[in-house]
Amino acid sequence: MYGIPCLAKLDSNENPTPLSEAVLAAMQSVLASANRYPDAGAMHLRTLLGQRVGLTADQVIIGNGSEDLIGAIYRAILTPGDHVVTVCPSFGLHEFAALSMGATAAKVPFNDDWSFPTDGLINAITPRTRIVIFSSPSNPAGPVILKEDLNKILSVLDENTLLIFDEAYGEFVAEPYAFDSVAALAEAICPWAVLRTFSKAYGLAGLRVGYGYISHAELVDAVAKVRNPFTSNLVALAAAEATLAEPEILASTVAPLTERRKLLSDGLEAMGFHCAPSQANFVFFDTGRPATDVAEALRKKGVLVKAWLEEPYTQFVRVSVGSADEVSAFLNALRQIDNQS
Ligand SMILES: *Cc1c(COP(=O)(O)O)cnc(C)c1O
Repeated sequence: MYGIPCLAKLDSNENPTPLSEAVLAAMQSVLASANRYPDAGAMHLRTLLGQRVGLTADQVIIGNGSEDLIGAIYRAILTPGDHVVTVCPSFGLHEFAALSMGATAAKVPFNDDWSFPTDGLINAITPRTRIVIFSSPSNPAGPVILKEDLNKILSVLDENTLLIFDEAYGEFVAEPYAFDSVAALAEAICPWAVLRTFSKAYGLAGLRVGYGYISHAELVDAVAKVRNPFTSNLVALAAAEATLAEPEILASTVAPLTERRKLLSDGLEAMGFHCAPSQANFVFFDTGRPATDVAEALRKKGVLVKAWLEEPYTQFVRVSVGSADEVSAFLNALRQIDNQS
């Protein structure tokens, strides 16, 4: 980065917590077996993940990150001319993976108070809509969908439309917003997929393990057919399994992070910036000028953030909740830039 030391890497919503000894040891213990292929079916991890929500392994799918699953599900479902409905601003892949299949995507803006645009999503659904997808907490803005709003959307979807509920940041959601998504979807008429990942709260972004809970085992099989047989590697699978065996990992991450998120958004509000309400490990705020200029000025001070490039949010920056040092480095750098302009 131009030879500038990186003080804060806050552009990718990573977890700053170092990996635990147990997870490192689990990875070490399989290294010498790397001459062998991993279990293509990832049965052990799928069984463990299924048990957590009362599903059998055949309704669980593992991906090389949940991004891999988004692409594969779209390939399995979409044909040219099909239609996808999502929100705006949104995780880019939700839209781009549709365009790459020759499908179109409707992007429904959030309500002015950053509540989920439930009615807008429902109104955007057409007879060609094959997928409705959004993340909750929503990347990049941070709001969550309320359970009653999810139910409202489910009530209009038939068996021809797949609901993809991307919970990449689900572990961060606090009361009163948290609900069991798999239970909430269990009664739905439409097919559904709940996507989660080891990249964010579990802190294994570099290993690439994501997973999905899927309404129909047939859909798991259909998705498996449109990708390569081996996805997650041996070391990644071992780390993910070890992570699940250590519930403290989540507890020691989520509570301190929630406190630092408040420090971060309070610091921003004190400087006069408005933040979208976040239940995730990032904050989205209006910089009042071109976001790319702000990101570039911060980069020169060793602080990486994500400038949003999607209209009409090109004055917004998404900043991840890093370590305490990173949060203060970011706030200090932003204050300096603010005073200069
Ligand atoms: C980070 C993220 C993902 C994907 O993460 P993987 O590292 O591929 O598991 C998926 N959806 C959203 C909304 C994300 O922010």
